[in-house]
Amino acid sequence: MNWCEACERPEDSDICAQCGANITPLARTPIPWRWRLFLVATVIYVIWRIYQLVNWLT
Ligand SMILES: [Zn+2]
Repeated sequence: MNWCEACERPEDSDICAQCGANITPLARTPIPWRWRLFLVATVIYVIWRIYQLVNWLT
């Protein structure tokens, strides 16, 4: 699945069906690994807080 930046819509092929632009997966910038690490840490923290809240309520 590719993403057309101009139309802001997903496209199955390498050429956008709406504007005809060449949209290859290489044109997209990958998510930095630090961002993924931060997101994972945030999810773990939130789960830990919910776990503590459930323990406190019961
Ligand atoms: Zn397009």
